[in-house]
Amino acid sequence: STADIGVVGLAVMGSNLARNFARHGFTVAVYNRTYAKTTDLIDAHGDEGDFVPSEELKDFVASLKRPRKAMIMVQAGPATDAVIDQLAALMEEGDMIIDGGNAHFENTRRREAALREQGLHFVGTGVSGGEEGALLGPAIMPGGSEESYESLGPILEAISAKAPDGTPCCTRLGPDGAGHFVKMVHNGIEYSDMQLIGEAYDLLRRGVGIEPADLARIFSEWNSGDLDSYLIEVTAEVLGHTDAATGKPLVDVIVDQAGQKGTGRWTVQNALDLGVPVTGIAEATFARALSSGVKQREGAVDLLTGPTEKAAIPDGFVEDVRQALYASKIVAYAQGFDQIAAASAEYDWGIDLGSCSALWRAGCIIRARFLDRITEAWRSDPDLPTLLAAPEFTKIVTDAQDAWRRVVATAALAGIPTPGFSSALAYYDGLRSRRLPAALIQGQRDFFGAHTYRRVDREGTFHTDWSGDRAEHEV
Ligand code: NDP
Repeated sequence: STADIGVVGLAVMGSNLARNFARHGFTVAVYNRTYAKTTDLIDAHGDEGDFVPSEELKDFVASLKRPRKAMIMVQAGPATDAVIDQLAALMEEGDMIIDGGNAHFENTRRREAALREQGLHFVGTGVSGGEEGALLGPAIMPGGSEESYESLGPILEAISAKAPDGTPCCTRLGPDGAGHFVKMVHNGIEYSDMQLIGEAYDLLRRGVGIEPADLARIFSEWNSGDLDSYLIEVTAEVLGHTDAATGKPLVDVIVDQAGQKGTGRWTVQNALDLGVPVTGIAEATFARALSSGVKQREGAVDLLTGPTEKAAIPDGFVEDVRQALYASKIVAYAQGFDQIAAASAEYDWGIDLGSCSALWRAGCIIRARFLDRITEAWRSDPDLPTLLAAPEFTKIVTDAQDAWRRVVATAALAGIPTPGFSSALAYYDGLRSRRLPAALIQGQRDFFGAHTYRRVDREGTFHTDWSGDRAEHEV
């Protein structure tokens, strides 16, 4: 046995990760159910490092140094369970199975518990950055035992992306499902980032009438300031691209129905269970659903009219939109971090929020300059009640609020949907309101269901006898 690590599943992600390991000087065992994919990888890239290909899984396992480390990169779901069962049967106490697929964290918790019974380590690991990231350096979000990370960590850190300060974008986030959970919320934040950028585009295109090629330049400019991020860069690229067949901007020939593979939905489902308001991610997920709700769109498009008066676009609107985008994005991140903190408390993961933002600084889809600032905020005060309470972020959102309000108001008057901007602003106003209408809701609940209420001026729980003499009783 000579291999430092092995990869099972050599589709695009698995082969690129295997090549990344090999390029960093590790000896990599490789196995794929269909052997032709293994030979294809070796034929095309065998000269990039030391690969140990096996046709049989038992030979693959035998080729790994102990404690064995086998990373699975197969389709998430039943395929992952099947491969885990096959591997576990061949492994010995102390060996590690690492799942780099997009597993739901509850599945990771179940698998970890089962393998721990057998004396094996199971490391559920989020991997972000797509196929290019897998090859050149992804952000890696491992969950699992501290013991497993001692020997596995250095290998994963070696192949991970490096933040601008040289830190590897790979940190053990906590036990069992912690890594896959953080990856899930990362994807949720990605949904909301993309939605907010989409709304900025829509406002400037439909509201102001700026053409895609000019918008590409605006997004490029934004990419050199606070908004500097991979997604803004990608946006400029897409908007600047002309369709070869028609000569039109590509964005005009793409069908406007957004797809999704489900991680945004998982994030929202979990947030509902935990009771954490992640309105930015939820609105982004629902906006994708609305876009692809063909029946409803087709049925309503000619019936529901827009504003009767043409909305006036305020001077300096492009800068207003930039500020609204930045403020809304900060809200979406603040909500995502709240969700991670709530889950960490619920599942006893001990996740360090500063480590999450630090490892998202490179390699992953939401990589962005402002993650440096978020990292600093959590590092200087890990007990912040919300990211918006970090002095720097308080200032940014407060300074942006006039612009943000103009954008949301203009969008409403112009009839351009901005669920991301609007809900983020509503969240901001919700947090800063000294009194919320929840008091009235408590009154209603007490009226129809005797659900009781608390008073602002006295301790205790109270009920008003609504159907009788309407006197208040302490209960
Ligand atoms: P796919 O999700 O398309 O999976 C294909 C691989 O799974 C093949 O190697 C296939 O083997 C193997 N496989 C499927 N069923 C079984 C089974 N029952 N037993 C053994 N092997 C099986 O590959 P990707 O490379 O796109 O993704 C791999 C994982 O990485 C997925 O979980 C994905 O969600 C995740 N991921 C993907 C990203 C991306 O950008 N694509 C980003 C981050 C994570 P065979 O060749 O024999 O069919």
